[in-house]
Amino acid sequence: MIGNPVPWPDGARCAVSFTFDMDAESILQLAHPQRAHSMVSSASMLRYGPDVAVPRILESYRHYGIRQTFFVPAWCAERYPYAVEAMVRDGHEVSAHGYVHEHPNELSDAEERHWLRHSLAVLEAISGEPPAGWRAPLYNFSHRSAELLLEAGVRYDASLMGDDVPYLLQTARGRLIELPSHWAMDDWPPFMHSIDLNFQMPIQSPAGAWQIWWDEFEAMWEFGGLWVPVWHPFLSGRLARWRMSHAMIGRMLERGRVWFAPMRDIATHVERCIADGRWSPRVETNPGGPKRQPDAT
Ligand SMILES: [Zn+2]
Repeated sequence: MIGNPVPWPDGARCAVSFTFDMDAESILQLAHPQRAHSMVSSASMLRYGPDVAVPRILESYRHYGIRQTFFVPAWCAERYPYAVEAMVRDGHEVSAHGYVHEHPNELSDAEERHWLRHSLAVLEAISGEPPAGWRAPLYNFSHRSAELLLEAGVRYDASLMGDDVPYLLQTARGRLIELPSHWAMDDWPPFMHSIDLNFQMPIQSPAGAWQIWWDEFEAMWEFGGLWVPVWHPFLSGRLARWRMSHAMIGRMLERGRVWFAPMRDIATHVERCIADGRWSPRVETNPGGPKRQPDAT
């Protein structure tokens, strides 16, 4: 069913990368810049991410001996450097996710370049290594994001939804690796409920949410795909949900022939497969849509 499944390492049937976007209160700051400081209950819900959920998630990863990926807005890395340091200490990847979760496709050319460069520099200073990848806040990848990422030395993007396996975005500056996911793999629809953040969903049980994610996993395992959940510590790191996810990681490992890897390692593997001719990616030639004039600003 997949036209060009990737030859994953050691005969694995699929690649798995749990990706957590540690947004913390950045999304509250962005939505309510004047009032965020007094929205204490919402702030506490979001701060649960770095302070309670991240240590719990790291403990599970240590238990299973896997390394995965966190996308962190640089503003959150400045506020919670100990969370980022704990991720790095355990060998996990820390990649970029905006400065204060600003939406690239609502910015001017100059603003998008500025905030991308600034967020990469801040994150590198705190994590100790240049971020290999980027996910656009709220998937708001702009028509210029791919080129700006290549210009800044970022090796992969994880914002788009255009395939079941990695693919390439062709730009005037060269090709960017896309490691796609999609909304069914996101934990906002089953778990997010916040009046302050204007997103109110009927909350699902952990088993209900996992039914969707496990169906996706079965399909990716059968056909050679890439399974990338887009989760948030303040949602999926809550106790009952993470208890279930901890058990499901064990179930995936028992299934066998699953390659757990940070996204940067998946990007490196894909680069190697392309270089030695073992795999031909699909190339998206016009990721930004029809050509347009640069912004006046
Ligand atoms: Zn986010």
